[in-house]
Amino acid sequence: MPSEKLLSQVLKEFAQTLLTDVPSQAILDGLVERIVEVLPITSAGVTLIVPGGDPEYIAASDPAALRYERLQTLLREGPCLTAYESGDAVAVPDLRLETRFPTFCARALAAGLRAVFTFPLHNGNERFGALDLYRETPGALSDDAVDAAKTLADVTSVYLVNARTRHEMQELASAQSDFVSKISHELRSPLTGVLGYAELLIDGAPGMQNKEQLRMLGVVERNSRQLLALIEDLLTMSRIDADEDDLKIGTVDLRDVIAHVQDTTAPAIAKAELDLIIDLGPDVRLEGDQEQLERAVLNLVSNAVKFTLPGGQIEVRTRTTGDDIAISVRDTGSGIPIAEQNKLFTRFFRGRQAKQRQVQGTGLGLYIVNHIVQSHRGVMQVTSSPKGSTFTMVLPIHGPSAGIPDARDIREPVPAGSPSR
Ligand code: ADP
Repeated sequence: MPSEKLLSQVLKEFAQTLLTDVPSQAILDGLVERIVEVLPITSAGVTLIVPGGDPEYIAASDPAALRYERLQTLLREGPCLTAYESGDAVAVPDLRLETRFPTFCARALAAGLRAVFTFPLHNGNERFGALDLYRETPGALSDDAVDAAKTLADVTSVYLVNARTRHEMQELASAQSDFVSKISHELRSPLTGVLGYAELLIDGAPGMQNKEQLRMLGVVERNSRQLLALIEDLLTMSRIDADEDDLKIGTVDLRDVIAHVQDTTAPAIAKAELDLIIDLGPDVRLEGDQEQLERAVLNLVSNAVKFTLPGGQIEVRTRTTGDDIAISVRDTGSGIPIAEQNKLFTRFFRGRQAKQRQVQGTGLGLYIVNHIVQSHRGVMQVTSSPKGSTFTMVLPIHGPSAGIPDARDIREPVPAGSPSR
């Protein structure tokens, strides 16, 4: 009789695997091994069967189970197929007395097998395989052992259905991301052309366009720029999804990063009638990816510009503490409601203010900033009040590969109000 305690331990372990991302093969192999410990059997295996398809064994507790599974699938004969077809458990307590699967019995007996107990795997009315329990001595299973085996077959079914759903969802997500990436690439080239020609016409010979035409060309240029920014964000998002976002690490001088951001944002800052203050600390160098860091600081400053009213102030500040360098962007905007603060780094999140005031944006900016900071093994911090917000990127001076990677791997963004680390 199986030990109740052992069985409940196996069920508990198994329930936990439903929530993990451990590859399903390792989980299945572990499960069949544990089934052998719980029940009075010598080995166990799992076979999947689809209507009209070839049966396929997917797990075996040891080489003997693998031989028996292979035998049943190659011969297309044995208790596994009978259990699948009938939907009922099949018990063969003594292979020498069994007449339903003569070829399988003869070969399995020659290989040392004496008894088989098979339980169908199912999801409601849909049957999709069987759990085979093998024993090298003859004899029936006790009622308790049969009950325990049924329970284990049920959890195996639940696991397989869950793994299949997860696999399908991953495939779907990856297909969507491929689609976004392809479309974005296709859109980028013609749009760059539109933007280029609009700029040429605006800068064209004086008098070539009248005032109204220049105004319309300005609209074309602005809209093209916005669309290009959206396409860049979507491309970055699909690169992040596909894990293709490699860093080009080198020595970065923050003076260059900030000068680039200052140049890029100067027209928008002037238009919004804001003051930009730069306050650099004594150490301005770190190991990192210059282009990516420029993008992150640019996103933060662009947000500050969007959410600060005319006459306000934006400050970009760098400071060093220990082995970290902090780059913060502070604004005197109206702040971020507490309820929104823990959603800021979620992709496509746009706050109420952004939607109400129809501020341009995709909700990808902070998601990308956070990804850049995390891939540098840094952490984002946010503080916000009705007087303004401060977004801080805390980065390791010696680069992503220095320090204690494992601990930093799991650093999450720190929302406003939380003590900094
Ligand atoms: P978007 O590309 O739409 O700007 P982000 O991810 O950069 O998206 O920002 C998400 C949301 O966070 C914005 O819609 C806004 O509600 C809020 N937010 C970001 N930065 C600021 C800021 N400096 N001040 C106020 N709200 C901000």
